[in-house]
Amino acid sequence: MKPNKEKYVYFFGDGKAEGTATMKDLLGGKGANLAEMTSIGLPVPPGFTISTEACEYFNTHNGNLPKQLEDEVLNTLTRLEETMGAKLGDNENPLLVSVRSGAAQSMPGMMDTVLNLGLNLNSVEALIKKSKNERFAWDSYRRFIQMFGDVVMDVPHHEFEKALQSVKDETDKVFDTELNVDDLKEVISRYLVVYKRFTNEEFPTDPKAQLFKAIIAVFNSWNNERAIKYRQMNDIRGLLGTAVNVQTMVFGNMGDTSGTGVAFTRDPSTGENNFYGEYLMNAQGEDVVAGIRTPKSIETLKNVNPKVYNQLVEIRDILENHYHDMQDLEFTIQEGKLFMLQTRNGKRTVFSWLRSQVEMVEEGLIDEKTAVSRVPAGEFNKLFAPILDNNDISNKNIKEVAKGLNASPGGACGHIYFTADKAEEVAKLGKSVILVRTETSPEDIQGMAVSKGVVTSRGGMTSHAAVVARGMGCPCVSGVSEIIVNEKKKTMNIGELSFNEGDYLSIDGFSGAIYGEKIAVKPSEIVQVLDGTMKEEDSLLFKNYNKFMNYVEDIKQLGVRTNADTPKDVKMAVSFGADGIGLCRTEHMFFGGQRIQSIRKMILADNLIEREAALNELLPMQRSDFEEIFRALDGRAATVRLLDPPLHEFLPNDHTSRHELALDLGVSVEKIAQKITELHEFNPMLGFRGCRLAIIYPEILKMQVRAIIEASLNVQAEGVKVIPEIMIPLVGNYKEFNFCKKHALEVIESIFEERKESIEYKIGTMIEVPRASITADEIAHEAEFFSFGTNDLTQMTCGFSRDDAASFLGHYVGDTDKQFYDYDPFATIDIDGVGKLVQMASKLGRSVRPTIKLGICGEHGGDPKTIDFCQKIGLNYVSCSPFRVPIARLAAAQAVIKNKK
Ligand code: ADP
Ligand code: MG
Ligand code: MG
Repeated sequence: MKPNKEKYVYFFGDGKAEGTATMKDLLGGKGANLAEMTSIGLPVPPGFTISTEACEYFNTHNGNLPKQLEDEVLNTLTRLEETMGAKLGDNENPLLVSVRSGAAQSMPGMMDTVLNLGLNLNSVEALIKKSKNERFAWDSYRRFIQMFGDVVMDVPHHEFEKALQSVKDETDKVFDTELNVDDLKEVISRYLVVYKRFTNEEFPTDPKAQLFKAIIAVFNSWNNERAIKYRQMNDIRGLLGTAVNVQTMVFGNMGDTSGTGVAFTRDPSTGENNFYGEYLMNAQGEDVVAGIRTPKSIETLKNVNPKVYNQLVEIRDILENHYHDMQDLEFTIQEGKLFMLQTRNGKRTVFSWLRSQVEMVEEGLIDEKTAVSRVPAGEFNKLFAPILDNNDISNKNIKEVAKGLNASPGGACGHIYFTADKAEEVAKLGKSVILVRTETSPEDIQGMAVSKGVVTSRGGMTSHAAVVARGMGCPCVSGVSEIIVNEKKKTMNIGELSFNEGDYLSIDGFSGAIYGEKIAVKPSEIVQVLDGTMKEEDSLLFKNYNKFMNYVEDIKQLGVRTNADTPKDVKMAVSFGADGIGLCRTEHMFFGGQRIQSIRKMILADNLIEREAALNELLPMQRSDFEEIFRALDGRAATVRLLDPPLHEFLPNDHTSRHELALDLGVSVEKIAQKITELHEFNPMLGFRGCRLAIIYPEILKMQVRAIIEASLNVQAEGVKVIPEIMIPLVGNYKEFNFCKKHALEVIESIFEERKESIEYKIGTMIEVPRASITADEIAHEAEFFSFGTNDLTQMTCGFSRDDAASFLGHYVGDTDKQFYDYDPFATIDIDGVGKLVQMASKLGRSVRPTIKLGICGEHGGDPKTIDFCQKIGLNYVSCSPFRVPIARLAAAQAVIKNKK
């Protein structure tokens, strides 16, 4: 239905509604569903919805309402009054209403609901007569003044609480429920004084004035700070504003045959197809969630009022069959009669998403495509993380000692160590390690890899620790500012508490909580089945995951490869469904054991002969590394990048290690210091690295190409298919590429010659320098594939270094008034800038070589919004860290569905 701007108010009631569930943008989620529930015959108290367009008008016209709005509201109110046979706030037969906000997407942070609107000293008398319940009427009036004062007029909540408490104290009463009519009247008179003191006006007695004040307050709340922050954090964009729902009150607080409750049509935590809910008798509105009394589980309603219980169960089926998804609903029972106050698609854990969607497919309620389109890709990795055992926490009554950012999901428990070396050392002995550092750097990677969890006291969600930990699937809590690490003394303090090296610490990467004690940890069942420690038939979670990924596989078009440098990572990625390696960073293989010594020797060499000797030491190690990786890939393609980082990264930067190295290599400490000085660069990111290394020292390239090709032939000889793809990094000019390719070909041909056997291979490049994107056609003459290295491409295109951007980038994307970038460009590709270069280079590349293979590696490869973009521009694959492979596969399928619409 096309929205008609001449109409701002939509009625619902008595089985008829002007709105429908599809009109969420216009009526908000709450309003659209109240209309829908009315139309399908559910018992909804009648009312009307003022559209989001009215809110937009209000916000863009200095807080003025559209001209005809007042008339429209009054006319629709008359219709409501006729339907109800009562008049708003009338002295004889009063209609009372609630005023509820509600945007297209559910959004805590906006204005709270005002209940019982329409009451004043006259209508409260009428309510007494009508309800024959004096206490109920005065209590409703008391609640109304407090809610209206607090929510509409910003009177400090505690001022009302103080007034209430003073009456309780003077009458020697503890609970609200103990207050009698006289007490309540006294509370009300004190409330009215509070109200006047803070607003400089009398409490409005005219019901219509109350109504319009409340409507305007809802409109204003759209742009309050809480609401803006919430929209930003949850990436809610492009909405007009909030709708306002004005709805006839029903009372759950009319005595023991009345009540109120909330329910889910399935379990929001596990997804089990089981009616799940809570209620309280003699209660109103938020009492159930406010925790004043402990609510009862929904099954027990059977005993209290079987008729209402059965009606609710029936409504549960009606709603699921109508909406084809799990619903979250609110209901109220007034003197034994059931009313529905809200329904919406239920928020749930990713575990619940998975199970509910798979079961709905099997029940025939939805098709596979619908299931795939709904499960939130951004949450998918939580399925694989280990979890802290909640029973353990509650049984031992363990309290958190600090809180940081939930940087990488999962629970972990272990002994704390403060350096990566120490972590490695004790992990080898079989100890569980929690690595605690002020912040981490690339040197800490090995230590992080062996740790169960990582904690940093500094750094945000895109800090080194956070990014690397997420990539590894290692739980991480970053930016725990209360933690003060003393690396020298091997201690850490959290406020008053002090911890020594080796003490227990438990962390919850789902929430960011830190516990100073041992807590049991359970690994994800999916991971347990994949690595063979659990049987598939014993894990319902795994079975559902497997079914779901089959739906995904049927839909997705993009290949999903992984960025992996070790056989262990490759195996993990393959079990997660990776199609191959998109980026194997050879330098990561140079850090372990003897390798780092040989590479240091190579760097310190004074001439070609010494350098080649060092490279010859490296060759067999590198070759066997590749062999293991190729075996693990079992027939899948592997893009191997030649040496990329600046050489100084391999040299030790502390005094002791320099001494050790000098001793080891039989050179002087001075020589090492001098070499380090020589290699020093002001801007290493733009320095002597990438293909520039291969151009100055072709012998490095030759050793690496030899290792790759010999390993390929060796593994091929074992009967395993190998598809090697050699990737030249940081090319900006086709001549650089052609130079490197020529040297590579020489090596490859000589190997084929020597061994009288050959293998198919590809040589291509990483596109990560803007110049390469612009001249991609020239490069494509010789390059057989492009892999977009979007980390460097972003740094060089936007002109900021990832390592230094933290100081301002937060403001660029986090501040409400400075949205210079929609998203962190290192997490989600900057579509209009970097994305444009990717698209252009793809086009140029294909114009010269139509069969050129195009992919993307780098952090962005696992980001759902980036993957959507890659699908749109027709890349062949994305590549991401092993733990993101399932997310990327899901996002790839979702991109197909989304882009078909
Ligand atoms: P939220 O969006 O925060 O859930 P709601 O508008 O749904 O806010 O309302 C808050 C509480 O007030 C809910 O428990 C709801 O059921 C109750 N409520 C809202 N309108 C009415 C009404 N007309 N009669 C009775 N209870 C109501
Ligand atoms: Mg609600
Ligand atoms: Mg790069």
